Amino acid sequence: MQNIDILVFGAHADDAEIGMGGTIAKHASAGRSIVICDLTEAEMSSNGTVELRRQEADAASAVLGLYARENLGLPDRGLELSRGHIERVVQAIRRWRPRLVFAPYWVDRHPDHVQASKLIEEAVFNAKLRNYLPSLPAVQVEQLIYYFINDMEHASLAVDVSEHYETKRQALRAYRSQFELSASANAVETPLTSGYLERVEARDSLLAQGRGWAYAEGFAIKRPYGISFF
Ligand SMILES: [Zn+2]
Repeated sequence: MQNIDILVFGAHADDAEIGMGGTIAKHASAGRSIVICDLTEAEMSSNGTVELRRQEADAASAVLGLYARENLGLPDRGLELSRGHIERVVQAIRRWRPRLVFAPYWVDRHPDHVQASKLIEEAVFNAKLRNYLPSLPAVQVEQLIYYFINDMEHASLAVDVSEHYETKRQALRAYRSQFELSASANAVETPLTSGYLERVEARDSLLAQGRGWAYAEGFAIKRPYGISFF
């Protein structure tokens, strides 16, 4: 049984990197144990194959300094709030026993990101119920935090990732099949191949404005985060 610091869920490999690659790199380089759990193999993506996506995810994981990465193999475009899918996510939480869980923000133009967000919220709740799947000990996650993929609304937390931004860029560049039209012969244009990474960078730069930072990543929470001011 592990006791990791951070468990980040994404619907597809590259979601976590887009939203919080800098935050992951920052905490991994400080010695924190971070695991990314991708819910699907993104088999419905217009570009790239499942095998290629696995290789790209491995390369990005190495760049970020992850403790581990796993894929639950749930159906792409078929995520649902079913008992079976919730169980799979709860099992992942109970295997890793993280302090913090990160999930995609609850509003996003991609329906799978929205479904993933709900699924993880349900699973974090069930993970603490000791009579639910009693074969694995219950886990009380300290905080569920949401990161932004395509759409950004009000960020209630901002992390300075200026010193780790180049690592984020490198991790994102590992997903060549998604972001580079020239990466394969039969690639088609998608929102990701037309200046997407530049927009991610612009978003992260804008959030840093006024703080004296170069880049920041934004996060949102539903339940108040306990802090002490001094
Ligand atoms: Zn995605």
